[in-house]
Amino acid sequence: MRNSQKVPQPLDFMRWEDIDSLVGSIRSRSLVARPTTIEQCQQALAFFRQQGMTICARGAGRTYGDLALNDGQGLIDMKLMNRIIEFDEALSTIKVEGGTRLIDIYRKVHYRLLTLPASPTESHSSVAGAICANVNGKDAWRQGSFGDQVVSLTLLLADGKLMTIDRSHELFNAIVGGIGMLGIIIDATLQLKPIKSPFVEINRIPAGDVDALLETMAQVEESHDAAVVWIDAYARGHNTGRSVVHAAKWIEHDDTEEERQEYLNAGFERLEKHRRFGLALHQTFGPVLSLMLQAQRLMMFSFNRLYYRMGRILYRMGRASNTELFLRFSFEASFTVPPAHLVCGPLGYTLQVTFPRSDARAALIELLGICRSSPCPPVTTILRAHKRDDGLLSFSEDGYSLNFEFHPKKRHEVASRKAIDRLIDATAKRGGKVHLAKDQVLTPEQFYRVYPRFNELLDIKRRLDPEGIFTSDLARRVGINTS
Ligand SMILES: Cc1cc2nc3c(=O)[nH]c(=O)nc-3n(C[C@H](O)[C@H](O)[C@H](O)COP(=O)(O)OP(=O)(O)OC[C@H]3O[C@@H](n4cnc5c(N)ncnc54)[C@H](O)[C@@H]3O)c2cc1C
Repeated sequence: MRNSQKVPQPLDFMRWEDIDSLVGSIRSRSLVARPTTIEQCQQALAFFRQQGMTICARGAGRTYGDLALNDGQGLIDMKLMNRIIEFDEALSTIKVEGGTRLIDIYRKVHYRLLTLPASPTESHSSVAGAICANVNGKDAWRQGSFGDQVVSLTLLLADGKLMTIDRSHELFNAIVGGIGMLGIIIDATLQLKPIKSPFVEINRIPAGDVDALLETMAQVEESHDAAVVWIDAYARGHNTGRSVVHAAKWIEHDDTEEERQEYLNAGFERLEKHRRFGLALHQTFGPVLSLMLQAQRLMMFSFNRLYYRMGRILYRMGRASNTELFLRFSFEASFTVPPAHLVCGPLGYTLQVTFPRSDARAALIELLGICRSSPCPPVTTILRAHKRDDGLLSFSEDGYSLNFEFHPKKRHEVASRKAIDRLIDATAKRGGKVHLAKDQVLTPEQFYRVYPRFNELLDIKRRLDPEGIFTSDLARRVGINTS
């Protein structure tokens, strides 16, 4: 199906465009279709098939690497398929088109005391993108991954037909987390969750080492609804695992619907300002920050020590708790402004890996040890708790994940890459996974090691998409043979 020759007369909602990956490390050029209706999705599909071109569907393009890129081929950008089709307050469900952003669902339902669990920090992610990468939020151990919130969806298949798929359908666990390999998600119905108010109480709890961290997490997982952990990856010896757990629980807040709407509007505005501020900061000071990170060992070692000590002092003074809109806890970049992936820039890597709860202590010690031995340890290290799900390419498991943001220096590129390979190896040997939404490094051998059930998805793909029309640059990189 691969054929990058010039296409005569694209449809009027298509054009060739340069598309970069999120941090600009990968540049691609694709014939991009931006449909606004199901009929246009079908026309674009038929057009690409006729031209012998492959297709990658794209949501908001907020994956870090090449998961939503398709160099020299077709992209169906679903951004304009972003309508809210039906909000059923009695059932607490919402049906939306695939390109709808998560933040727009919050705008619609949050003031009615409903929330969308399993939302990732990136509030501009689209619903279909969140389903295909089966993303997770800070509430992952309680609410599971994004796929757990899906009631049903409509899929446009390679033959142009539409199929409705609910949770009991045999294809459900192949589509959720299935990185868009089986078709285009046109719309989805999501289950919302009632809340007491849009506010949470946030507690910041310092933990001095791995054992204290795991003990704190065990308590927090019982007592709280969402959590994210900052870890000092530079701490060594008996300080390994030194961290600050940020945990949130929903609380009552006595106010009228009008008052709620008012402070939520202010909250949405503030969130957008924060987002723009992070981007502006990156544009203005990105190169300076990157230059400062040339002395990252010294800089991060000192910063981390200070951050931990401040956390401990505030905790002892009883000043480590506050009340805040959940919106901020959920969607503002954790611990760095601008977000760490931007700070790390085009040479940087993000790697998020899981490990099982039963082996958490040994896994943390080994993974953090590998980071420390790298010439460029991660700029940020974040831990989350998860629960198992049934997706064939499921990232989540009953355990924890560590998310690393690396900023390798040019002269240490090879050694840094070796450390990444060791992290992936240590993950694979425990049956852990690498999050594809953030990946730009997996080799075919590593991919098949961490996703052994991929062959089951491939069998389904051969049935539904025998010509292998749905693919992506990531799929080609990891050697997914689509035909
Ligand atoms: C600042 C930041 C914070 C983040 N935080 C988190 C986090 O907390 N947790 C987490 O899990 N992830 C996180 N991510 C990753 C992000 O949430 C995911 O990559 C998400 O999938 C992005 O959605 P998208 O709409 O941009 O998808 P895209 O990047 O556009 O696409 C993702 C995948 O979905 C497929 N796809 C998209 N739309 C369709 C469709 N209509 N039909 C079929 N296939 C489709 C694409 O082909 C691709 O395989 C973060 C990203 C950023 C930038």
